[in-house]
Amino acid sequence: MASETSQQSPSATVLAHPWPTREEWSSTLDTTFQLLLQNLDGLPERRVSRSASPQDMAPRFAGDLPDDGCSPIDALNEWYARAEPGIVRTSSPRYFGFVTGGVTPAALAGDLLATAIDQNPANWLLSPAAAQTEVTVVRWLLDMFNLPASWSGVITSGATMSNLCGLAAARQWASRQIGFDAARDGLGGRPRIPVVGSTEVHQSALKSLASLGLGSHAIRVVPATAGVIDIPAFAEAVAEIDGPLIAIANAGEVNTGAFDDIRAMAEICAAHPGGAWLHVDGAFGLYAALSPDHSQLLDGIALADSVATDAHKWLNVPYDSGVVFVKDATPLVDAFGGTPVYLRSAESGSAWNAFEHLPEFSRRFRGLAAWCSLRAMGRKGYERIVQSSIANAQLFARWVDQEPNLELLAPANLNIVCFRVSVSETDDARNDLLTNAVLDHVQRNGLAYASATRWDDHGAIRAAFDNWATSPADVAALEEALRNALRDLNPG
Ligand SMILES: *Cc1c(COP(=O)(O)O)cnc(C)c1O
Repeated sequence: MASETSQQSPSATVLAHPWPTREEWSSTLDTTFQLLLQNLDGLPERRVSRSASPQDMAPRFAGDLPDDGCSPIDALNEWYARAEPGIVRTSSPRYFGFVTGGVTPAALAGDLLATAIDQNPANWLLSPAAAQTEVTVVRWLLDMFNLPASWSGVITSGATMSNLCGLAAARQWASRQIGFDAARDGLGGRPRIPVVGSTEVHQSALKSLASLGLGSHAIRVVPATAGVIDIPAFAEAVAEIDGPLIAIANAGEVNTGAFDDIRAMAEICAAHPGGAWLHVDGAFGLYAALSPDHSQLLDGIALADSVATDAHKWLNVPYDSGVVFVKDATPLVDAFGGTPVYLRSAESGSAWNAFEHLPEFSRRFRGLAAWCSLRAMGRKGYERIVQSSIANAQLFARWVDQEPNLELLAPANLNIVCFRVSVSETDDARNDLLTNAVLDHVQRNGLAYASATRWDDHGAIRAAFDNWATSPADVAALEEALRNALRDLNPG
């Protein structure tokens, strides 16, 4: 009977798509290549204007999923024609908005190959090449950031996920201290695990606390002066807690680039009788390790238990990419480990299995772009990127400082310049309005791009320097854009 039901007539078989011929691949890839070239060649001089509005974009993408398909090239060209006004040139050397890196040529090459070979770095079994590459990238980065070689780490989708992983390890450690297993038992009915950090802890860390069931409001908020956590107040907050706690330090506050005193926080944590896990958010600030004049900002970081960073910012690899480093991988594996039977192999005991260290199983092979870029640049190449970014930020900050109608809102500690238009000592509402108007002018004009924030209760403009190709001429373009805006708006 079974053999009868399994016999199907050939006519009932639905055919898959035939594998393309070499000529077909070639024509698809050639057209794609031309489109890449069109986007990359001359990018530094292209306008970097603001993104299109939802009202502009939605009609361009109206229409249901078509019944009939088309060639890959037609699909790509059609998308490009529809989407073009919405493409933001964030990888331009003149894009100073948010904290946005570009894509080095080697990173681009690696990322394209990663897509073509479609490896899954979940574990050794699925791709020894990808697993080994990720292990190597983490080892190279530990070395580049002057973190101990005994630490381990895992590649994530960005600093948010790195914060989540570091704080998941922290939660697991804290629950073990208290006498339960947070990953296995959950937090229900258990004492709250206290978290201590400053008013300037990044939203992504708060989001991670929310995701982990610790609660974004679990954090005991310590004041910060000019973005830097107040150490006596931190010591006081820690002293009020009996059991284990989690502390979050900023290595590079997002609006100003301010650094907490990591060594002082680590020492207070080490002296806490109930024990403390120190997590450092170094999304971009960890790269200060590559500048001899700034690496002291990270003093004490090897005393931390976990450190989060981004790769799609200052490492200049494409979105999305980040890394989390941990002193001891045990709590991470305790939180995320466990290998289902179908993923076990002869090697799985001793080999690197990324999925035991983070929330996902399958992931994109981000390590290849990072490996290629690190290999092509070398340590010296990255030192140049970081040091030239900082030099450009200092250059720009000095210009801002000398402009009569502009005012620095914070010292340019590293690669971020936070400033505003200030024409009145008494009328701050007017200053805010003008700051907004100047930024709007700059963003519409498209010569260079900076973004908005608020700092110290003032409307502010923020320029971040972390693109691998930004030159002093690009800094001059930003200055010219601001000068044009000030002239047209004539605030004086
Ligand atoms: C950018 C940033 C984050 C969030 O990183 P994503 O890459 O956007 O997930 C977290 N912390 C700081 C300090 C950042 O600058």
